[in-house]
Amino acid sequence: MSVRHSGIGMTSSRTRIRMIERLREQGIRDEMVLAAMGSIPRHLFVEEALASRAYEDVALPINYGQTISSPWIVGRMSELLRNGGDNLLRKVMEIGTGCGYQTAVLAKIAGEVYSIERIGPLLTRTRIRLRDLDIRNIHLKHADGMCGLPEAGPFNGIMMTAVVPEVPEILLEQLAMGGRMVFPKGNKRQYLCVIDHTAEGFVEMILDEVMFVPILPGIISR
Ligand code: SAH
Repeated sequence: MSVRHSGIGMTSSRTRIRMIERLREQGIRDEMVLAAMGSIPRHLFVEEALASRAYEDVALPINYGQTISSPWIVGRMSELLRNGGDNLLRKVMEIGTGCGYQTAVLAKIAGEVYSIERIGPLLTRTRIRLRDLDIRNIHLKHADGMCGLPEAGPFNGIMMTAVVPEVPEILLEQLAMGGRMVFPKGNKRQYLCVIDHTAEGFVEMILDEVMFVPILPGIISR
């Protein structure tokens, strides 16, 4: 078999089904999340040279020194955000669009997705990719996501895909009552952190140890 053919094999729907089976073995249980990840061609979110590795459980480089999160992380964070609900989340905000894979998953588990990215050229490519995949319920914004989007909120879910040292208060203010925020927190060691907006206030949970690129200030235009 030629290299080209084996390349195609590695990105087939069978490979994607195997990824979903692996996610189940790794403890991802939310059927809506698994269905979303089973329907999105992850290999189209990485450079062609890496396409054959897109379904492995690894983070891969995208451009501008950033990384696409591993399938397990995307599954885990999406499942945490859904919090076992029966319905679609109504409105979700993501900070750190990157290549847009997590954004595409969010678009399947939420009615409307707002996603913010600070690196302009990265966002331009992601915008084209998501448009080509005909994913329409998303609003992409080139901005410093640390301020959130007060004009579009409050949100039923907020997800950050880059690590922060502390809980960003300004984002919590944009979390609707009953809503949940999922993000990596820490310095040398990082942990997935969940904050629920309950009638009694904000309730925090610290979960798995993880590894993310940092949230950075300001925007890059080209
Ligand atoms: N979910 C993305 C993760 C990309 S890595 C994916 O799987 O592709 C994290 C992303 O957060 C990077 O694209 C980085 O540029 C972006 N980012 C970092 N700080 C940011 C900020 N202050 N505002 C918006 N985006 C930010």
